Amino acid sequence: MRFGFDIDDTLINLREHAFHLYNRKLNQNVSLDIFRALKTVEIHEAFGLEKETGGKMWTSLLEEIYFTDCPAFDGAIEFLMKLQKEGHEIFYITSCPKEYCLKTLHWVKEKGFPVIHANFYCGMQDHEKINFIKNLKLDYYFDDKPAVLETLFDVSTKVYVKDQSYNQHVDIPRVKNWNEFIINS
Ligand SMILES: [Mg+2]
Repeated sequence: MRFGFDIDDTLINLREHAFHLYNRKLNQNVSLDIFRALKTVEIHEAFGLEKETGGKMWTSLLEEIYFTDCPAFDGAIEFLMKLQKEGHEIFYITSCPKEYCLKTLHWVKEKGFPVIHANFYCGMQDHEKINFIKNLKLDYYFDDKPAVLETLFDVSTKVYVKDQSYNQHVDIPRVKNWNEFIINS
């Protein structure tokens, strides 16, 4: 089978990692409860920042957010390693900025995820992911972002949403926890 994965906030806990970074940079102590109640992918609201200031802050911290010690979600690496061991093909489809694609590939690999360079797709816009998912004839695809998932209702690929506070309205099968996740095919 052919399995496709988004990376940020599907396999790695990027927003929460960024949240801790914002707390340190802004010298604040916003609680995780506030973070976990956010209904937006963006995290600036938790710090009382406007969209524009928040956007600037994210951009200015981009390298630190992406390439420091952001943790994988519990069980995510093990789940993908198991798929690989069983002979499945693993694809990554990440809309991370184009200039960071190679660095991201190496980071993901170093983290312990099974990566084949030719199967690493990067730098597209959210609404373009569907073309990759179709062209690669994926059997399964996993993502967290409503803006992506909402484009995938008529694909033959089985789509799963990684459970997050901002995607509760998306009505498709969920991965709550990679440790306990089992494919229902
Ligand atoms: Mg994502």
